[in-house]
Amino acid sequence: MISFYNTLTRKKEVFKSVKGRNVGLYTCGPTVYSYAHIGNLRTYIFEDILKRVLLLEGYQVHHVMNITDVGHLSSNADTGEDKIEKAAKKQKKSAFQIAEFYTQAFFEDCKKLNILSPDIIAPATKHIKEAIALIQALEKKGFTYKTSDGIYFDTSKLKDYGKLTGMNFEKLNKSLKAGARIEFSPEKRNTTDFSLWKFSPPTGGLKRQMEWSSPWGVGFPGWHIECAVINLKYLGKAFKNGVFTPEKAQTIDIHTGGSDLIPIHHTNEIAQVEAVTEKKFVNYWLHGEFLIFKEFRMGKSEGNAILVNDLIKKGFSPLAFRYLALNTHYRKPLEFSWQALKNAQEGLNDIYNFIYQCLINIKQKEIKIKFSPALEKIKKEFEEAMHDDLNAPRALAVFWKLIKNYYKEESEPEETYQLALIFDKILGLGLDKIKITPLSKELQLLSEEREQMRKMKKWLEADKIRKKIEKLGFSLSDTKKGTIIKPKK
Ligand code: AMP
Ligand code: ZN
Repeated sequence: MISFYNTLTRKKEVFKSVKGRNVGLYTCGPTVYSYAHIGNLRTYIFEDILKRVLLLEGYQVHHVMNITDVGHLSSNADTGEDKIEKAAKKQKKSAFQIAEFYTQAFFEDCKKLNILSPDIIAPATKHIKEAIALIQALEKKGFTYKTSDGIYFDTSKLKDYGKLTGMNFEKLNKSLKAGARIEFSPEKRNTTDFSLWKFSPPTGGLKRQMEWSSPWGVGFPGWHIECAVINLKYLGKAFKNGVFTPEKAQTIDIHTGGSDLIPIHHTNEIAQVEAVTEKKFVNYWLHGEFLIFKEFRMGKSEGNAILVNDLIKKGFSPLAFRYLALNTHYRKPLEFSWQALKNAQEGLNDIYNFIYQCLINIKQKEIKIKFSPALEKIKKEFEEAMHDDLNAPRALAVFWKLIKNYYKEESEPEETYQLALIFDKILGLGLDKIKITPLSKELQLLSEEREQMRKMKKWLEADKIRKKIEKLGFSLSDTKKGTIIKPKK
């Protein structure tokens, strides 16, 4: 039994998939106009934990992610410049080059953080036909209107618009207006209305690189439509042989993103899809809280972005950040600091040392399927924590219990190692990559010599040998089960 906190119902609910052991999972992907920062990546780590929990439970997860490579304007009020076109001008590259470059960079970062790849990666620019089909269907049902700069969705026409926020229509309109940093277009009927199709600026004005013809004129799709059509196509199965059949759309199991997406982007996805299908769009909405740095939400435009490469440059391993992220529940804000990352790196190194010790002490190589009752209990506790709305901090505390147990010699290295690897199928800390490095003759001799000095209580000599070993690029830790010498990271 797995339960999640569902933003839609504002309570924790037991997860039940639409179709047996199959789960459709949709993740809002990055806007590819610059590198993803570790705040963005915190959200992708939470989503990765979710996916791994489902996979380990035996579900077939069909994971779809969009890539926002067009239509995300600098203001949420449907005004301002397209973020990708703006970056293209600044960097004197084409908008397509910018999108391609940062998409690749994003997946390289994900790889460094052990985030599993989606089954389908769907760029918005490759789904223009589908976007037009959806707008036409909305138009037919009377949900759209035209202004001088585009085709808009009339949010007052949908009876439960805004339900994801828990606010009614008036309250949501008021709060959006209050939170906006700029004036809304006077042509909009309601503050919450949003663009489905934006017209390219008239000839002579700023020429766009990314634009397509449509029944309404040359332009580009609004930001929220891409996720609606990509969901409908790959998970909702509402496009058969290129023909849009909204009445056949299936409800999707899980949709995720950062909490900033709730009031506008996800609210508008629901509006578009439910307006045409007249069916529930998504059963479970999961949202991750922000990564905060120096009191502010980390943001690409806020000037406080830290990248995975910044972590590496400072000598941290990207997985130390993953470990740090796992130590806070995904629905709580996470305050980032370099000190916190340093502590996480130390914690992760301790975990790696523990795995190394297990490996050194493992005698029999065959897989042990049955765990001792004590480890069975630990296994159950770990699963219960992860199944309880992805409580990774609690699961990590259980993992540490496994480590302590082992050091107290209450469990065997074989079973301990195997259980740690099972936990790591969810944690994703790369524990299966740790291998014992056979020591060279020189190191073996030095190690034996040091052991002798220690036995004779010749500490100064022993220390000299330690330094020699360290100079060769190895680290030493003396444990109850002997000295471990392994390459320094
Ligand atoms: P974007 O690339 O801006 O479209 O955002 C990609 C993902 O990162 C979305 O799910 C956002 O909600 C999420 N996100 C943006 N800023 C933060 C932050 N500071 N902490 C956590 N998640 C964030
Ligand atoms: Zn989205």
